[in-house]
Amino acid sequence: MIPLNDTVWQTESWQQQMRGMIRDPEQLFQRLQLDPSEQPDIAAAMRQFPLRVPEAFVAKMAIGDWRDPLLLQVLPLAKESQEQPGFVNDPLDEINANPAPGLIHKYHGRVLLITSPSCAIHCRYCFRRNFPYDDNNPSQRDWQKTLGYIQERPDISEVILSGGDPLSAPDDYLEKLIHKIAAIPHVKTLRIHTRLPLVLPARITPELTKVLSNHRLKTVMVIHCNHANEIDTHTADALDTLQKADITLLNQSVLLKEINDNVDTLVNLSERLFDAKVIPYYLHLLDKVRGAAHFDVTEVEAQALMEGILTKLPGYLVPRLVLEDPKASSKRPLALQWIDA
Ligand SMILES: *Cc1c(COP(=O)(O)O)cnc(C)c1O
Ligand code: SF4
Repeated sequence: MIPLNDTVWQTESWQQQMRGMIRDPEQLFQRLQLDPSEQPDIAAAMRQFPLRVPEAFVAKMAIGDWRDPLLLQVLPLAKESQEQPGFVNDPLDEINANPAPGLIHKYHGRVLLITSPSCAIHCRYCFRRNFPYDDNNPSQRDWQKTLGYIQERPDISEVILSGGDPLSAPDDYLEKLIHKIAAIPHVKTLRIHTRLPLVLPARITPELTKVLSNHRLKTVMVIHCNHANEIDTHTADALDTLQKADITLLNQSVLLKEINDNVDTLVNLSERLFDAKVIPYYLHLLDKVRGAAHFDVTEVEAQALMEGILTKLPGYLVPRLVLEDPKASSKRPLALQWIDA
């Protein structure tokens, strides 16, 4: 096997990098020089949700460290197959909020479009790991139905492109879709939920930036970064480009056991995000999806962490701790207990 070095992946196009991403665990273990004698049992987890990680993300992992916080987000593990009470396939009940192909409408004033079924990375804790994407990959004709749904509802002022990862779709596809959304007069804001600036920063090309900003809508991008190590210079440059194109940058994280569940890690994350011109938005409690129970941090632990970071950060760098309740009409903020006050 030819080891990838930095210069190779940095000069490849994003499409080449996406095609060339690591899907073979052996290749990942060799790349990171991980001790094979400590190799976990991954076969069953691989069958449920295969490994996928681009070199640009692997390059931010420490060599030889099975406990690296970025590696743990993508490493399939045998414990994913252990059934845990309360952890189910569709914890957010999205199937029942799916009135048109590829459209999820749960909250007032905004709808979420499953723009592309694929992701450039497979995050083991993902609440969509069991979502039937194949049934929600609308063809051009179906977009008419979906956009018709928005057209008929003047109270929808924001359209969120989500996924999968919407930026795994090609520029011309995004351009056409955004054009159609912008043609609906009552839509004011376009929002993009994406992990690609962290996972594949080469995706943020000048052409894409133009597609995302060259229309009448306000544009908000919510990136998904869980750990400060995800922001290297390539990612910081990509975020800088987006910010200069007048795109408001926010971040959502998931609170993940042994990855970011301590005060210093969360403080570093907020500070690093701010260095990269991104404001922390949400810190989500894990969605209870089957296969992800080992990432779970309890509400009480999460509240104590929030109290810790509140004492160390200015208020604007403190994300809102929220829980996704399938029956609620918004994300549910978690009140703090002020245990030691
Ligand atoms: C999270 C989410 C949104 C966006 O909620 P905000 O609180 O505005 O960030 C919209 N629709 C669905 C279905 C969601 O899950
Ligand atoms: S939808 Fe987001 S969290 Fe889920 S696998 Fe894709 S990038 Fe990761």
